[in-house]
Amino acid sequence: EVVTRFAPSPTGFLHIGGARTALFNWLYARHNKGKFLLRIEDTDRQRSTDEAIQAILDGMAWLGLDWDEDPVFQFSRRDRHAEVANDLLRQGKAYHCYASKEELTEMRETAKAEGRPPIYDGRWRDRDPSEAPEGVNPVVRFRSPETGTITVEDAVQGPVTFSNSQLDDMILLRADGTPTYMLSVVVDDYDMGVTDIIRGDDHLTNAARQQQLIEAIGWRIPKVAHIPLIHGADGAKLSKRHGALGVEAYRDMGYLPEALRNYLLRLGWSHGDDEIISTEQAIEWFNLENIGKSASRFDFTKLENLNGIYLREADNQYLTELICPLIAQKTGKTVTANGRNLIEKSMNGLKERAKSVISLADSSLFLIAERPLAPDDKASKLLDDVAKGVLSRLADRLESQSEWTLESAESAVRAAAESEELKLGKIAQPLRAALTGTTVSPGIFEILEVLGQEESVGRIRDAVS
Ligand code: GLU
Repeated sequence: EVVTRFAPSPTGFLHIGGARTALFNWLYARHNKGKFLLRIEDTDRQRSTDEAIQAILDGMAWLGLDWDEDPVFQFSRRDRHAEVANDLLRQGKAYHCYASKEELTEMRETAKAEGRPPIYDGRWRDRDPSEAPEGVNPVVRFRSPETGTITVEDAVQGPVTFSNSQLDDMILLRADGTPTYMLSVVVDDYDMGVTDIIRGDDHLTNAARQQQLIEAIGWRIPKVAHIPLIHGADGAKLSKRHGALGVEAYRDMGYLPEALRNYLLRLGWSHGDDEIISTEQAIEWFNLENIGKSASRFDFTKLENLNGIYLREADNQYLTELICPLIAQKTGKTVTANGRNLIEKSMNGLKERAKSVISLADSSLFLIAERPLAPDDKASKLLDDVAKGVLSRLADRLESQSEWTLESAESAVRAAAESEELKLGKIAQPLRAALTGTTVSPGIFEILEVLGQEESVGRIRDAVS
């Protein structure tokens, strides 16, 4: 069985790179009908916060990335991590190091000055423990292989070989007995039964170190896939300006989760020339072979286009549910059942023009606005004296309609244009201004139909009075 995991450190929001890592792990698990586990790596007690944990859980839920089983909190497993380190100590695969901070700093400075890499030189590796200074709590270091090489068989990068001499004896337990990231990850992945690790390629060297440790313990080595990081549109490292924001920021900007999911999928994975890939298709198609080997660039325009496509395809009721809270926030009033109804009925026309959930909410405000409307500047300009005369006669005509459908409203407006000897547009534009208070909206006949006879006539009368 395939078991993947997402292992964020809760020191900030769920940023876009993390969300993509989570998505890939989720897709890989779902594709293989395996499990997707969540591990909160909260061992940095100073920087880990409950708000960040919540933001990660919320962000994943919003993106629809459901995890199997309860999340594992890494800090709560520290005794187990220490147990593994102590086993290694007993077997001579790890050792106590008593070097002081000052001593280590000096060691690194000297190495740098002599042009060597500033890594730990193994000074306590073979030293007699009886030489241990008194009153010093030692750290536990891993006795890593000194010669030869280690090759990480990466599903994305191919085989990546490191010289063991470059990888120094890393710390497993700190002087206060707490486990390090490197130890915790290895133990947790093993205990959680993780078979496949997909994460950012900034962890590639860690993978080599972790593999050394796993080999020393004698556990099986999980498969790894290190995905290239996301860069900004200009190729530079992703920064806030480029879109390195929390997932909730994208929600607040009005992106649909399905659009962001599609975008994140394409950001580093491809399936031929396909750009619009539904989640069902993604689950069916996802593999590690098609993960790109070079850094992908974050492109807001592409994301916006995808969002528009997903908005137009989205279910009207779903969109109505999404925007009603936003409208309530804007107007300070909850949307009534009647208002919801109006919005849902007009959704086909509204979503045609929408770029985001926000603009969708804005464009539907006129539907539930209370009379008299306050037309914006452009709309006011359209409502000059000539237009008012035309609209006033149109109002009479509309008022006398015995039935009210899209078709009957349309024929009434067309008949009015004809008798006024005006092109349809010349009457439709001021009519739109009167009905919506704006100059952009769904089709005018649709609006007449949705608003109904009384409200439509009333709005026109308000505008011409
Ligand atoms: N907690 C690590 C991070 O957020 C991830 C560790 C891993 O995936 O192995 O970068």
